[in-house]
Amino acid sequence: MINVIDIVRCPECHATDFKIMEFQDASMNITNLLLFDKGDGIMLCSACKSWYPIKNGIPELLSKDLRNKENDDSFIKKYDNIINDEIKSAYLK
Ligand SMILES: [Zn+2]
Repeated sequence: MINVIDIVRCPECHATDFKIMEFQDASMNITNLLLFDKGDGIMLCSACKSWYPIKNGIPELLSKDLRNKENDDSFIKKYDNIINDEIKSAYLK
């Protein structure tokens, strides 16, 4: 069986390696997408450091030109207290 996370590619650089962070608790956990239930989180491309929101367990893998800046801003603002510097610098770039 093919694991979905093995065929997902970064829309910006086509890399397949992501860090996945889950925001279900106040703490941030790196977890396996298969374990990801209905929470929010972030996928961070290990190669180009682009970040992608996960909303209600669904990753939004859109390239920069298809993304909505206001949606990104409100998503980041919602989790401002728990996202780490790696995510913040990816968000600001
Ligand atoms: Zn990338």
